[in-house]
Amino acid sequence: MTNILWLQGGACSGNTISFMCAEEPTVVELVTDFGINILYHPSLALEIGRQVSNLLEDIVRGRVHMDIFVFEGSVIQGPNGSGTMNNFAERPMLDWVRDLSNVADYVVAIGDCASWGGIPAVPPNPTDSTGLQFHKGKKGGFLGPDFKSKSGLPVINIPGCPAHPDWMTQILVAIATGRIKDVLIDDLQRPTTFFTDFVQTGCTNATSFSQKIEGGFGKRGGCLFYEVGCRGPMTRATCNRILWNRQSSKTRTNHPCLGCTEPGFPHHDLEKGSIFKTMKYLGFLPKNLPPGSSRLGYYAQAGAAKLVSAVEKTFGMDHKHPDTSK
Ligand code: SF4
Ligand code: SF4
Repeated sequence: MTNILWLQGGACSGNTISFMCAEEPTVVELVTDFGINILYHPSLALEIGRQVSNLLEDIVRGRVHMDIFVFEGSVIQGPNGSGTMNNFAERPMLDWVRDLSNVADYVVAIGDCASWGGIPAVPPNPTDSTGLQFHKGKKGGFLGPDFKSKSGLPVINIPGCPAHPDWMTQILVAIATGRIKDVLIDDLQRPTTFFTDFVQTGCTNATSFSQKIEGGFGKRGGCLFYEVGCRGPMTRATCNRILWNRQSSKTRTNHPCLGCTEPGFPHHDLEKGSIFKTMKYLGFLPKNLPPGSSRLGYYAQAGAAKLVSAVEKTFGMDHKHPDTSK
């Protein structure tokens, strides 16, 4: 039996909704087939009021064993470090987070906000939100850079806005079945199984990316990198390999990837004009490039492609991908 406690801080419950949509295994199968016992979950539990604070107190004092502490949402530290903007079960949530993290065998941050602060931590960050062990891309966060749970592991980050249900359930199963030591984590403490390949791997527009054929929002054909800000080439996640609802992904429906599994999300801090728009130098050279691209080489190539395209347009030889969306 693996006891899980799930709490929420500065959260929209998106990860909870995603978790409840899990299919392989389902949440019910986690309980019936994988020996997972959910001690408390804010959307699933029957306990209310004192029953919740008593349970949390029992866990902190060691009367109830908790194997995995799952946290969803940002850690709210405001005002002035008191955390009282987010009280829960008669205390500031941040006090519970600290105490529960110290007694947990494993601590798992679910979603961007718990991993690195996410949208609540965008400046001016009025709630003084942060992630469990990162603040944006900087290690530290609420628990500090040296934190390790009783198992000896740091916080396991499963980012995403929301995280894919398989990323959550499969890591929970790995812990429950004693296989977590087989799971490697990267510099941002994300399981490499899910966060090594880029979203572009498996994207149906990948050929258009390499041929620099522009697509458009919701328009079939062409690549979304050049105009509408797709971050698929810079974002590590399996969205085009482990499809959402076993059906599709953002880029397969020609919606740009927003880069939600990277600590910079929401990128450009939601600056006006930066959403669904490729930020550019000189009006045509993308500011953000895939890792490993030589900026100079890319720009030269992109410049040449633009030149060829301009010549083709001038002489009526435009081979732009046909718009099949109408
Ligand atoms: S749409 Fe996005 S993920 Fe797909 S090929 Fe273009 S840049 Fe890459
Ligand atoms: S496609 Fe991009 S924005 Fe969408 S869930 Fe995957 S990583 Fe996040």
